[in-house]
Amino acid sequence: PELFQPERINSKGFDLKHQPTLDKIEVARAPFATHQWAAVPLLAGKAKPNKAQPVTNPADPSDSPGTVAAASAADIETALANAKPWDATPAQRKEVLNRVADLYEENFGELFAILAREAGKSQMDAVAELREAVDFLRYYGVNAPEAPAVGVFTCISPWNFPLAIFSGQIAAALAAGNAVLSKPAEQTPIMAHFAISLMHEAGVPKSALQLLPGGGDVGAALTSDARVGGVAFTGSTATAMKIKATMAENLAPGAPLIAETGGMNAMIVDSTALPEQAVQAIVESAFQSAGQRCSALRCLYVQEDIAEDFIKMLKGAMDALVIGLPWDLSTDCGPVIDETARKGIADHIQTARAEGRLMHELKTPNSGTYIAPTLIRVDSIADMKREIFGPVLHLTTFGATELDKVIDAINATGYGLTFGLMTRIDDRVQYVTERVQAGNLYVNRNQIGAIVGSQPFGGEGLSGTGPKAGGPNYLPRFTARPAPKADG
Ligand code: GLU
Repeated sequence: PELFQPERINSKGFDLKHQPTLDKIEVARAPFATHQWAAVPLLAGKAKPNKAQPVTNPADPSDSPGTVAAASAADIETALANAKPWDATPAQRKEVLNRVADLYEENFGELFAILAREAGKSQMDAVAELREAVDFLRYYGVNAPEAPAVGVFTCISPWNFPLAIFSGQIAAALAAGNAVLSKPAEQTPIMAHFAISLMHEAGVPKSALQLLPGGGDVGAALTSDARVGGVAFTGSTATAMKIKATMAENLAPGAPLIAETGGMNAMIVDSTALPEQAVQAIVESAFQSAGQRCSALRCLYVQEDIAEDFIKMLKGAMDALVIGLPWDLSTDCGPVIDETARKGIADHIQTARAEGRLMHELKTPNSGTYIAPTLIRVDSIADMKREIFGPVLHLTTFGATELDKVIDAINATGYGLTFGLMTRIDDRVQYVTERVQAGNLYVNRNQIGAIVGSQPFGGEGLSGTGPKAGGPNYLPRFTARPAPKADG
């Protein structure tokens, strides 16, 4: 399909600088400020789930948005036994997916409330997330392929985009006519339950879409049963590797795995960059969504000639960030997802502090699983042993003759998701972007928030299998295309 499709336009979203829009959001969210949701398996048959457990609010230990009952072994069997590819034409699938998008937009108040209370998403993030989810639904719907479906697709989605990536995987698998078994992240079952309910309401049959909340055991069961034909996964590189091994052993040969995984994303700021523009792009890339995006900036390279003043400006911009409750419209940076995440990041910061590498740190609120935006000095991206999935930016400097060395170090991480370059030298744009191995390269702007349909998103190497989400090569992977003829 063409990238530009006059038949489909991206969602307009919400203008958060427009007071009447903010008022409208407040009113729509208000009924859900203390609402209790109950997430349960949604099956094409009777569910016998495990006992319900409370779901936590990462920003506020005194609040719980409700409960989740995980799928039992019997539920997994019910889902596998009753899964049936969607018996509808591409035009019908498009129509239903468009209706899902409309229902999402109509229910924005409840969606924003769940995103804030269950996932700790700031209002700004929630708006972006709804927009992206709607765009995925419409984009894959418009492009619903004629080719036959694979069969049953397991979709395992992450907590950091509990609506957008969750809906994107499912919309793609459904647009291609597959039956979907959805296993959402353990931390965000309520969002999943609400979204799947809207999909059923829009007309997706239950046999084509079932929800199985739960942890790694549910995911393992849904990726190791020969009745499953393919898997879409977004999450850690380590889990993707496990899934790949399980699939190779248990599923049909050639069963597709579409994995989007981690990143070790760098940005290079040279001495010709516009400092104001670069600082803003860095703050957004590193700290928006509390750094919990696989696209987020992790390691910043600043040319040493400008470093002193530049770092001062960067610290000043960090000081201006509002760290607060996701529900408050003024919050820039909310909590990280849970205590396990907080502890892992806090340990990393503590090590840096002990080694005298802490450059700047903000104050965290007294309760909730918060990590405040933090700046840490490193010598090279090679010093970062693992992806730190939170609002922690690592910084190093480079000399005017060291550009190639920097590019080599970035490529040597083995990851290749996003990369940013800030420069006003045109030849350098060409030179650097040709050499850095990354799926999404951004020049003189932030490096997060890829737009469906115009910036297909996905990495290479340890960052994922491709094809890129929101781009023309994604849907064919969800179909059973006839195998290409052997070359003879
Ligand atoms: N697509 C998102 C972006 O461009 C990131 C997705 C992720 O974090 O998994 O920022």
